[in-house]
Amino acid sequence: MIRAVFGDSLLDPATGEVTRQPVVLIEDGRVTRAGPRNGTQVPRDAETIDAAELTLLPGLIDCHVHLTSLGEGLDFTRELVTPPTFELMRAVRAAKRTLEAGFTSVRDASGSPAGVRMAIDAGYFPGPRMFVTVSALSQTGGHTDAHFMCGADLDIPLPDRPHQVVDGVEAMRLRVREVIRAGADWIKLCTSGGVLSPGDQPHHSALTLEEIRTAVEEARAQGRKVMAHAQANAGIKNALKAGVATIEHGIWLDGDAIEMMLDGRNALVPTLVAPHWVIRHAEAGKMPAYAIEKARAVIDDHKSSVRLAIESGVKIAFGTDTGVGPHGSNGEEFLLMRELGMEPIDCIRAATTVAAETIGMKGVGSLQPGAWGDLIGVPGDPVADLELLAKPESVHLVLKGGEVVKQRAR
Ligand SMILES: [Zn+2]
Repeated sequence: MIRAVFGDSLLDPATGEVTRQPVVLIEDGRVTRAGPRNGTQVPRDAETIDAAELTLLPGLIDCHVHLTSLGEGLDFTRELVTPPTFELMRAVRAAKRTLEAGFTSVRDASGSPAGVRMAIDAGYFPGPRMFVTVSALSQTGGHTDAHFMCGADLDIPLPDRPHQVVDGVEAMRLRVREVIRAGADWIKLCTSGGVLSPGDQPHHSALTLEEIRTAVEEARAQGRKVMAHAQANAGIKNALKAGVATIEHGIWLDGDAIEMMLDGRNALVPTLVAPHWVIRHAEAGKMPAYAIEKARAVIDDHKSSVRLAIESGVKIAFGTDTGVGPHGSNGEEFLLMRELGMEPIDCIRAATTVAAETIGMKGVGSLQPGAWGDLIGVPGDPVADLELLAKPESVHLVLKGGEVVKQRAR
């Protein structure tokens, strides 16, 4: 099956170049050509997709989502009466909304077992290409310890979603192996406290340097990399010293941490929009009081930290922590990145070329020949107007693997 997508313009994020009157040819899910219509031989039997008023660009990539999280605030009573299978099914709706917002690839930062990725790949339900981390490993009392002071433990391990709490070097070694056995593409650690967890503080570090090193070593031995939920300065530095590949959130970067990130081997995934959603949910009465205070306390420091990273030339990959906010709202992050001084084309690169390179997913973030036919169309120039990527309703066309998953009637 050959498809020919005719657009008004085509944006190549790698170069920033715009091609007028382009055509993208997709054969058996893969791009065979993306360039000017003039001089392109469009096969006679090609199925035509008319996007004459749209700017085409590669499908977007979000490096930090949680598809099994509801994205509607935190309600412990609700969670207590949510069976694990029902929790899992949230991913079905979230995957569709994410894809329809133009995000054709994601890295799930915990919650989704490998079966979610496998079901999407098998076509059971629509969703983005996925990398999964399955479980987010943290120390006792740490960010993903769901064992509450009353004694209840909300972290229900599934056969393919290992328990998230781990302490000590040997236990870490075993747990990382278990997570990889369960199908993880990436390993997720929490090297600091967080905003939504009741028992810890974002500015406190978590896990020892030795525990983090062990996780990195085990991951590396099996061709995986490690992402770290790292908000505290000490937690960020421990993660970097141990060889973690991506720093998530990065609320308290300083000159030394930035220096450690400038060799280009690491990336920062800011998730700027996440604390905003905590506050919005709180204002709607859907957050426990401790989370509101923590979100309000970090939001300005978070901005200063990310601004410093942008100014210093740290590699920034697009990520939102969606699942805190509602699925499909991912694009708002572009506006916050822009606000902190990133050029629009760099914001778009962060969600295409840079994201693909950062998470190591092949054939995404570009429309070069051989890439997956994952593309989106928006009614205007997204470099001139990032708002076009910020809301799902501005994304008029979404193709994944050459299949139309969304097309707005003209
Ligand atoms: Zn997260």
